[in-house]
Amino acid sequence: MEAVGMILIVSSRFLELLGIIMIIFFAIKKYKARYIYYTTFIIFVSISISAAAIFLKEYFIPLSIASTVISSLLLLGLIIYVIKHREETLDIQPQEGERCPVCTAFVKDTTEGLSTVTVDDVTLFFDSPLHLVRFLEDPLFYIKQRRIPVSKLEFENLFIKAKDTKRFREPSRLKFIYEGEELEAFENPPKGKEVYTFEEIIKKTKVNQDAG
Ligand SMILES: [Zn+2]
Repeated sequence: MEAVGMILIVSSRFLELLGIIMIIFFAIKKYKARYIYYTTFIIFVSISISAAAIFLKEYFIPLSIASTVISSLLLLGLIIYVIKHREETLDIQPQEGERCPVCTAFVKDTTEGLSTVTVDDVTLFFDSPLHLVRFLEDPLFYIKQRRIPVSKLEFENLFIKAKDTKRFREPSRLKFIYEGEELEAFENPPKGKEVYTFEEIIKKTKVNQDAG
């Protein structure tokens, strides 16, 4: 009985610690603030139930078990959801006055074809998928030219806003078509156009570069 109580107390404290680590992780990795609030709420409920269980002695074990199981499931579900849907759970928004590193055009949240990549924790925004591709061809050139404070070429969170759904998606989930000189990204591309994957686009530009 006492051993069970101890295990329950330890596991509740462990869950609260896990929640605090999640909050720090969400903040550092720039996830939307709502995921910090959800985690805080789950910890708050867990602590409240633990506190109530101390006063309701005869229900201590079932209350603590319920609290531990529910908080673990909620925290685990939240971690899986947030990491699996990074393009929606990350707070990806250009700052006021943000510019495309390739052409220096101003970019806004509403820019059509807005594309982004994070290099060594610096998040860059591009006014078109094509300029993101140009950057990926020769990142060092633009990093030097625009004096971007990056010390290592570590890429993450590569997303392009789909023209049809206006949602950020990983390039591997998008289809690309050429509209004249422009490159457009779609979740469901219009019929009757030649469609490329992101890999094919990267290969194509490499071939062009080699030929030129
Ligand atoms: Zn540009």
